Amino acid sequence: MKTKLELNLLRGKINLRVPVIKNDTDVYRFHRIGPSTYRINEAGFVNCYLLIGSERALLIDTGNGGGNLRKAVETITKRPVDVFITHRHCDHVGGAGWFDGVYIYHTETEAFENIVTSPVGSLAFAAIERQPGDFPIPTHRPNYIKTDENMVFDLGDRQIRVMHFPGHTEGSCILVDDAMRQIFVGDEISTDMLLAVPGASSLETWVRSAKKIYNLSAGYELWWGHKRGLVTRPQLKCTIHMAERVLRSQKRNHFPDKTVIYRNRKMHVSLMYNNGNVYPPTPWTLKDLPDTIITIAKTLKARSRVLRQDARRV
Ligand SMILES: [Zn+2]
Repeated sequence: MKTKLELNLLRGKINLRVPVIKNDTDVYRFHRIGPSTYRINEAGFVNCYLLIGSERALLIDTGNGGGNLRKAVETITKRPVDVFITHRHCDHVGGAGWFDGVYIYHTETEAFENIVTSPVGSLAFAAIERQPGDFPIPTHRPNYIKTDENMVFDLGDRQIRVMHFPGHTEGSCILVDDAMRQIFVGDEISTDMLLAVPGASSLETWVRSAKKIYNLSAGYELWWGHKRGLVTRPQLKCTIHMAERVLRSQKRNHFPDKTVIYRNRKMHVSLMYNNGNVYPPTPWTLKDLPDTIITIAKTLKARSRVLRQDARRV
């Protein structure tokens, strides 16, 4: 029995060719969202954020790995750059190897050897999303520096606070810039809320986190990891209400262990949830990938030594 994704791949509905673009500035587009704050959009697919202070800069997330992110960042700032990763998914850690060290919440490193975080995952993701980029080999394997939620990045004239909110993943963090009234939420809050990937927290846990973020975000902008980045508080409220309705119905009936999508078209929000994938059950490993994805990954792996190592484990 083939999954819908496999069927679509086999029928050619999903184009597996990753277009090659040599110029990093074609992969990364910088959008100014504050006086010294940029949304870096990687190939229309995923967002990183660059906050520049008087002394240092902070890069939030490293994208899917489509280009040399460090080189792209250095075209905007010459200040020393700290890097914080909001959560472990491959489309947020893909460029981590370009930096000397990246900070991440301590529980997020436990599952690093699985597909959701691997370069194979990034390439499979890129193929499905038809993401351009030549996926160059990073300078080194990512060096993850485990941190906790009490961390503050001092950029000189602005301080950025780290807060831990389990949900999208068990170790997801948000970063609060009180001076600019902006909060960077990774995928913890979004217009397409995803709680269906193995390693996600339970829906109850996410609702608790989301309500706290809603309460602390009055007067702040919320910027997330995909699309155009901005998610409004009414959209967040609407998603919380949808989740609460799911929880109520879950109490009444046995809730199916499969992925269900809820939508509110008027508010342009959705919630994808699978209660079979909650933390701590072991996340997918490379072995659990559908055969078709493994074939793609093996074809693409020649590009990178890191990928070759990962493919050997398949
Ligand atoms: Zn994610």
